[in-house]
Amino acid sequence: MITNKIAWRVPLLLCLITLGGCRGRQLTKPTPQMDIEPQFWVRVLLLKDITGCTLKIVSPVSVINGDPDAQTQGTEARFEELGAPINIRTAAGRIAVGGHLITGEQAIILPDDPHIFNLNGDDYRGKLKLIINPDGSSFDAVNLVPLEPYLASVVGAEMPNYWEPAALAAQAITARTYCLYIKKHFGSKRTWDVRKTQANQVYLGVCAESAQTWSAVNRTYGQVLVCKHPGGTEDIFPAYYSSTCGGHTENSEHVFGDSFGPLVGVPCPYCKDVAKPSFFFWPIVQFDKTTVGTKLVQKYSKLKRLGEITNIIPARQSNYGKFSRLTLVKLLGSTGKSDSLRAEDLRLSIDPTGTTLRSTICKIVNMGDKWAFL
Ligand SMILES: [Zn+2]
Repeated sequence: MITNKIAWRVPLLLCLITLGGCRGRQLTKPTPQMDIEPQFWVRVLLLKDITGCTLKIVSPVSVINGDPDAQTQGTEARFEELGAPINIRTAAGRIAVGGHLITGEQAIILPDDPHIFNLNGDDYRGKLKLIINPDGSSFDAVNLVPLEPYLASVVGAEMPNYWEPAALAAQAITARTYCLYIKKHFGSKRTWDVRKTQANQVYLGVCAESAQTWSAVNRTYGQVLVCKHPGGTEDIFPAYYSSTCGGHTENSEHVFGDSFGPLVGVPCPYCKDVAKPSFFFWPIVQFDKTTVGTKLVQKYSKLKRLGEITNIIPARQSNYGKFSRLTLVKLLGSTGKSDSLRAEDLRLSIDPTGTTLRSTICKIVNMGDKWAFL
């Protein structure tokens, strides 16, 4: 659920990352923190429910049994030949790595120094964990990467690396805080901590690293944001961020339903002048009513009793002078029943990536067989 709630974040100017030549310079840099405590490893979901993928190695790798309750985590296979693709696929309900059937339900690919592997064409640091799904027909690929190398990639993926060093440092601290919060509060319930997309924060592996992002991460090593929680204790909080706030940020409780001291809306004079115009002034978008209805019921089964949604009415909004942001909507149904939904949940049900329907700073207009967002 939280994944959907936080998917509103817009990736920061991803297009500005210079992808050309991204392999090379950072590939020879050793991966630090390979011996750090488990709580400082980040588990990034790279691929979900796949039946196969290709591994290329830049250093020899060992394949070890990754079952948490395995008696021995011995080496199951060893690959020394560099550059040759190793196919990973499901076979007989198990995972086969380069033809070797893994004994358990999980396998860990452990590359030698500099601890980098290439999965489906992209380079990542740390280890690769393969987890077979219960039905044995597909598996997930999870990158186990120490926190600071993870951040060196996230900072470069979320912010252009030519920005001021202080901005990159602030981004590193924010991303570190956010990641640790999500890991702590949601990681224990699943086999991974964060996705590699804007559903959490964008992570592109070695490709997004640069000398500038490494500098930002190293200069802020271990620094996180904290706030006072009820009872007076200090702890980290979900340090949400976005590329464009539209002129005023929003209280977190209006967006996610959770409230944290620092996460209150403040005016922002910056976006309007520096954001990409298409991010700040996005065009009218329309969505077919039947599709919207189907998507809403898929996500919120309680809405089934409404029948067809006949009207969407603003129920609460934050007013900022020249503009306002919808935070709660009332849905009226053909059965005569109604229900309410956070506006952000409505938005991300309709457009899960949030890249078309960019915010809830809009008016919702009934256009016959379509809903228009102006
Ligand atoms: Zn702003």
